[in-house]
Parts: sequence; structure tokens; C-alpha cells
Amino acid sequence: MSGKIRYSVILSAALLFAACTDKKEAEVPEGPSASLSQMSEVNAALENNADKFTSTYEIFVYSFFDSDQDGIGDLNGITSKLDYIRDLGFNAVWLTPVCDSPTYHKYDVRDYMKIDPQFGTMEDFDALVSAFHENGISIITDLVLNHTSVEHPWFTQAADYLRSIGDAEPDINECPYVDYFNFSREFQTGYASLQGTGWYYEARFWEGMPDLNLDSEAVKDEIGKIMDFWIGHGVDGFRLDAVTSYYTGNDDGSIAFLQWLAERGRQTKEDLYFVAEAWTDRSTYAKYYASGINSMFDFAFADSGGIIASALKGSYSAKDYVTAMSSEQELYASYSQYYRNAPFYTNHDMGRSAGYYAGDDGSKTKLAGAMNILMSGNVYVYYGEELGMKGAGKDENKRAPMYWTAGESEGKCAGPENMDDIEMKFPAYDEQKDDPYSILNYYHEAVKIRDAFPSVANGKVTASEYCTDTAAVFEKDDGEHEPVLIAMNISAEPCEIDLGSSGYTKLSAVLTVSGEYITFADGKLVLPAYGTAVLTK
Ligand code: CA
Repeated sequence: MSGKIRYSVILSAALLFAACTDKKEAEVPEGPSASLSQMSEVNAALENNADKFTSTYEIFVYSFFDSDQDGIGDLNGITSKLDYIRDLGFNAVWLTPVCDSPTYHKYDVRDYMKIDPQFGTMEDFDALVSAFHENGISIITDLVLNHTSVEHPWFTQAADYLRSIGDAEPDINECPYVDYFNFSREFQTGYASLQGTGWYYEARFWEGMPDLNLDSEAVKDEIGKIMDFWIGHGVDGFRLDAVTSYYTGNDDGSIAFLQWLAERGRQTKEDLYFVAEAWTDRSTYAKYYASGINSMFDFAFADSGGIIASALKGSYSAKDYVTAMSSEQELYASYSQYYRNAPFYTNHDMGRSAGYYAGDDGSKTKLAGAMNILMSGNVYVYYGEELGMKGAGKDENKRAPMYWTAGESEGKCAGPENMDDIEMKFPAYDEQKDDPYSILNYYHEAVKIRDAFPSVANGKVTASEYCTDTAAVFEKDDGEHEPVLIAMNISAEPCEIDLGSSGYTKLSAVLTVSGEYITFADGKLVLPAYGTAVLTK
């Protein structure tokens, strides 16, 4: 990826040049033959100015890259693909859980202070952290605190103890672990039966995942030590799994626990970053900002029914997309002035986006990627979305092996055991990397634009008066760096937008789905189908 000259950069250079001259008409070069000096000019303008965590790449560890030929992705595999992640422009990675666990996804932890042997060793983890840090890439690890594995020694000891006492009342002095979970003599919704006893235990997701008792001071002590342990190993932030289930049906309880968690973690590391998963409606997850954690995943824009996909399917207008971005800022700010939105488009629990648009030639898949990547806050991209990978239905399919090559190749993973055969729609990495109009190179360009203009990630969104049902036009201004005007054509027809009185005079970056030209002359911006332009004053 690195060192390649992107076609859109060439176009951008040529048009920037055109926009800065006195010529009345934008000059449209005939092909990628603009002079080297123009390219250097724009490459210099598109320097990476991103802060920590601005652009995060989510890696499902089991399926990314296998370094030791057992078919399972591992830490050394991720370290060996550092260049790939860095060259795409990401400045942070989120690793799905790496702790010892009986499952392939590892969202049920058996030992919070041990790397799962399938993924490697603590030394491998330390080497990964060092290598990524040396390249300016932050590390976010998944912290699963709602529940453990049913095989966690805390749970097995509690279960053994309850089996041993018959009908007697449990005594936490004899077995402190009975207080680590929510045991009950009566069945309740979300509880599972503890075999060999008359007891039930809270297990909201599955009987293999007993919910921790987060009221227990002993559990909180353990959690504090777990955070300290990973901070000691260089982790920069935690992704918090399933926070609405901390206290199911009691958001205030879950928010209060998050507040404790953030304060406790920041006692050890002042700038510790937290991003939390509350898979619910926006008005609910907005409230979680009151906890003081940095970021909440912005579920409203994600998945096949979210705002981005709905805009591209025509059930939402471009204006709806812009209005949703501007209105949520006020909502989140009403709970925390320090909020940092965490927009994402898909994750390991969602069908992959290439499956959202029937008959798409890749245009919608690409623009949707940009509609996510150019959002304000800390953006997240799920591995393989930059290739337009497919995978939907059962969870295993959503976590298919990173599509490095169509056939077998060194490092390609076998994938989760029960995964279906998945027919990919777009080519593998080794083909896409050499195609200037591939989804991969489009994503690369989008991340580059994001990281080049700090107002893209940090700016307040204001809907522009030029916004229409098919053209998303909005300003972003962070009050510190140059503001930008972003114009996106979300339709299959070219559109012309007269920006004459907008104050924006320079076409500073462009993104097109298959190399079409964007022209900007005499205040008139002409966007091809699914084209995006970034203008500065
Ligand atoms: Ca392996």
C-alpha cells in the first residue's frame, strides 16, 4: 500500500491547481499524467494530522492473520501485518478479547490475566504493543466485565461450593466467590439452572456466560487489578462489552458502574480511553455519556437498517443523514462536554456491508464507507470492510478469515469452525491492492482525507443550505483548524451544486468510486454519481 500514488490524489492535485489559477473552467486532465510536482504538493497537503484513536481498525483476532500455520489468527500474525494497518492510515487498533477462554470469540473469559494459548503468549502481546506504539498506533483491548466464562475458577469454585452445602445457607467466609455472581434460589428471566443444586445464576447471554455481581466490592477490586494489569502491559484504552447488561433493565445502575470504572482506571492511567457498546436506541446510549467515559458506539448509523445504509437504499435522504449527524451532537453534549462520538458502520456482530446493497457494483459499498469514515469523533472500521468482504447470518460468517487471497496463502486463517462457505463478491487483497479503483484504495483515500483535515474528525457538523435530498452538504469546524465543507452525492446521477456564496473556494480533496472527475469552477461543484468532495476556504 505505501508509496503508491492514488489516482484521486492526482486528480485532486490537478483540480487544486486549476482552482487556484485564474482559469474560468476547471482543467480536466486526460489521465493520471499530472506532473510529479503537483502530486507532491497535494501529498504534502494531505499529511496525517490525526490525534490518538481518531481512526481505529477493529481486528477479530481469530480470523485476521495466522503466524504459525494452525489455521487460527494470532497476536504475532497481527504484528506481522502492522504495515498493512499503518499504511491504511489507522492510528489505533481494537483487538477483540485476547484473554484465555474456551470459545473462538473469547467473549467469555476464563483467566483475565493470561493470553489465550490459541493467540500466543504474554511476550507476544508485549511485542505487539511495542511494535504498534513505535508506529504511533494505540492499542484498545476488549474488556468483558458483564460476565465470565462458566469455566472461570471464580465460577467453578462457587458452583462446587453450592453443590457441597446442600440446602444450607452459603457463607462468603467459606467461599467468597458465591458473592461474585448473582445466585438465586428462584428462577428469574435471564437466569440458568446450576446443575446438581436448586440454585439459579444470572446468565443474560447464555448459560456459558454467568453475569458478574458488580455490586460486590471484591469483584470491583478484581476488576481494578485487571485494568492495572493491562495498563501495565501498555494498553491505551478499553472497549467495554455489553454495558447495558451490567445492570439489565437499569441504565442508571449501569451508568453508575461505568463512572466507577472510569475513575478507577484513570487512577492508574490518567488518559485511559474507554469506548462502550450499548446496543440500543440512541436516546438511551446517549445517557451513558453521563458516566464520564470517552465514547459510545453510534449504533444509529450502523448495520443494514442504520442511517448510512438507509440513505444509500433511498429510505432516508442525504439531508436526513446530515441532520442526524448535527442533531446528535447536541444530544451527546447535553450529557458530557467531553463526549467523543464513536461512529462505526459494521462490527463482528453485524452482517457485512457488501451484502446490504443488492446489485451494487461497489459504488454504494464505497460511498457508505466514506459516509462512516468522514464522521466526527473516533471512527471504527471492522477488518475486511475495506475489501468489501461478505458474511452474514450466523455469527461465524460475520467473522470470516481476512480475505488476503482468494486461494490458500501463508497466514490466511481457517475461520470459525461452524462458518458457512462464503462466496465473496469483490476480489481479495492481493488483487485489490493493485487496482486504483478498488474498495481497498477507496478506503485508504477516505482515511487519508479524514486524517489530513483535523476538522473532519474533530469538527462540529452544521448542515449546509446547499444540502438536498440526494446531496449531503455539511460544514465541519473544530474552532482550531481550517473548517471544511464536505459534499457527497448519494445518488447514481451526477449533480451540480452552486456553492457560489458559501465562502469555500478550494477543492482540497476528492473521493470518487471509479476515477471520475470532480470539477469546481465559478463556484459550481459537479459531483459524479456517488462522488465526494472536500472544500476549504
Ligand atoms: Ca495461529
